[in-house]
Amino acid sequence: MSHIKLHIPGPVEVSESTFRAFCRPMVGHRGQGFKDLVAKVQPQLQSLLGTRQSVYLATSSAWGVMEGALRNLTRRKVLNCMKGAFSDKWLEVAGRCGKAAEPLQVPWGSPILPAQIDAKLATGQFDSLTLIHNETSTGTMSPLEEIAALKRKYPEVMFIVDAVSSMSAVPLAFDELGIDVLLAGTQKAFALPPGLTIFTVSPAALAKASGTSDRGYYFDFVEFEKYAAEHMTPSTPSISHVHALSSKLDEFFAEGLERRYARHRQTNQMIRDWALGHGFTLFPEAGHESLTLCCINNGAKPGGRTVDAAGLQRLTKEAGFLIDGGYGKIKGTTFRISNMGDETTESMGRLMAALDHSLARL
Ligand SMILES: *Cc1c(COP(=O)(O)O)cnc(C)c1O
Repeated sequence: MSHIKLHIPGPVEVSESTFRAFCRPMVGHRGQGFKDLVAKVQPQLQSLLGTRQSVYLATSSAWGVMEGALRNLTRRKVLNCMKGAFSDKWLEVAGRCGKAAEPLQVPWGSPILPAQIDAKLATGQFDSLTLIHNETSTGTMSPLEEIAALKRKYPEVMFIVDAVSSMSAVPLAFDELGIDVLLAGTQKAFALPPGLTIFTVSPAALAKASGTSDRGYYFDFVEFEKYAAEHMTPSTPSISHVHALSSKLDEFFAEGLERRYARHRQTNQMIRDWALGHGFTLFPEAGHESLTLCCINNGAKPGGRTVDAAGLQRLTKEAGFLIDGGYGKIKGTTFRISNMGDETTESMGRLMAALDHSLARL
């Protein structure tokens, strides 16, 4: 079967071994077999996320838990830290959930900085904030450790962090960070099929959720905790995803987390070198570039080379690789290439060769 290999920033390429695990025979979600499976992945996930808290598995894409976090934890007003398409959308979602919300908007490509958040929280209006660690639409990372340090100054504020396109590719130590929610969908850096979200919640957030009356049912954090204690999920999960996750986590630990992080840094550097070497510039502010994808400037900002991005995408696709033509309001004036998941220097080398060939033909 001919297949175009995915180098878009999610969903990313899923390996054959992951699909084999995904297709294991079905088991009942209240039976011992499933409980054993969850009991097996639980310590692996805790180790990956640097937490002693339970790590929950939700059958939905990331937005399910992103919305759920607001419903569980925002009672007064949420501060939405906004720097790109995904983080901007959280303000709209808060509104649709009937929550009072205020934007902290920075230009796309800029990071969110601790001082900006500090100034907003100092007003005393907020009981929660949303932050995206790695804004996938612009390929920009915000300094999570420095932002999380603000939690000590504002212990009552719930820090809700989306690490959808960074979790497992860069180190994230939940307990040390001291934040309240950390979540990721599996179709990005985990290189699993879309449809599962992995998240963890602080004791303070669980306590707060238990006192929030309109938190709903499907993403009720208290329900997740209750069932996690028995190695189960509140409702029937995508059991196939959990099989695939188990197989993937074994691969993570066989490689070693440090080696995995180093591999992502290396493969990301290859894309940067390719872009800069061909006269392009990167869209994010210098020093805040993502390590899991590159958002390459193609006219969105002054300077640098501009090409027919749609043409580049088409020719590269003909060579068997799908890259992304930009997202939201920077579609066409940027393009994006992902190094998330199982990519190696060899596999990225093949992509670079295809890109070179395509560029030469434009
Ligand atoms: C992909 C992505 C999302 C959206 O996830 P869905 O799986 O489509 O719900 C949210 N945040 C970030 C940072 C993403 O990259």
